[in-house]
Amino acid sequence: FLPHLVASMEQVEETYIMVKPDGVQRGLVGEIISRFEKKGFKLTGLKLFQCPKELAEEHYKDLKAKSFFPKLIEYITSGPVVCMAWEGVGVVLSARKLIGSTDPLQADPGTIRGDLAVQTGRNVIHGSDSPENGKREIALWFKEGEPCQWTPAQAPWLRE
Ligand code: GDP
Ligand code: MG
Repeated sequence: FLPHLVASMEQVEETYIMVKPDGVQRGLVGEIISRFEKKGFKLTGLKLFQCPKELAEEHYKDLKAKSFFPKLIEYITSGPVVCMAWEGVGVVLSARKLIGSTDPLQADPGTIRGDLAVQTGRNVIHGSDSPENGKREIALWFKEGEPCQWTPAQAPWLRE
């Protein structure tokens, strides 16, 4: 067993995280960013953005057939969102765990939705559900050149 080989096979992933309009209106932006920062992931993209209807529809295109789709598009475009790209080994699944279940009443205490929201239609945050969707969504929400590559000073204190 060679732990250094296992470590070198671990995939650096990217995920698209978005504070939805309710999270911005409720003043939860700092709290939400802080949870990902404290965990130890790397912020590579960040902006406040008023989402046009077409972009919201493209982002949620897999849900087009759902009865709540029009309400979802209205919700996401109802005010500015905070768009973020986060990078790290295992960041996609870990972010989903930090976020919690889609229905905030079912989400565990300690998760973002479990601590900060009460209804699916106002669940304050989005997170990509796979590394492939992470890449797709970052490309969708950010212009080329917007995300930044950098090395955090704390890097050697987070991973051996
Ligand atoms: P997520 O990956 O946990 O965000 O959940 P989904 O991908 O299943 O759904 C995307 C988003 O659509 C959710 O975060 C909610 O904002 C919204 N949504 C999902 N299901 C419902 C629903 O039954 N009613 C309403 N109003 N919104 C929903
Ligand atoms: Mg989803």
